[in-house]
Amino acid sequence: MTDIGARLREQGIRLTSTAPGRHYATCPQCSAKRKGSHRSAKVLGVTIDHNDANWGCNHCGWTGSINLLRGNGATDRAISSLTTMLTNTASCSFKNAAVPASGFGSGVPTAKAIG
Ligand SMILES: [Zn+2]
Repeated sequence: MTDIGARLREQGIRLTSTAPGRHYATCPQCSAKRKGSHRSAKVLGVTIDHNDANWGCNHCGWTGSINLLRGNGATDRAISSLTTMLTNTASCSFKNAAVPASGFGSGVPTAKAIG
């Protein structure tokens, strides 16, 4: 059973809730190094979606993401390949749909129109 909260804790991110939406937490990369009240400042913005989470620290700039569907430790590279995959999937369904191919009823001039 994959649990986005557990995956975030592996990264040192502790959220009070992992409901989809925007959350804030202390940053495992920089909060511990800070002083006084800053140490508990919730500088890390975490956006939770159903199967993924993205975060970015407002203090040190640390960013990262997790995608439960992609398995372990999705990196930015994994995310871009996911995007590519989704794009390919989208174009496949376009081909199967009743969308005309280019030059077919889309106002592209044909030889017949000349002369
Ligand atoms: Zn930070």
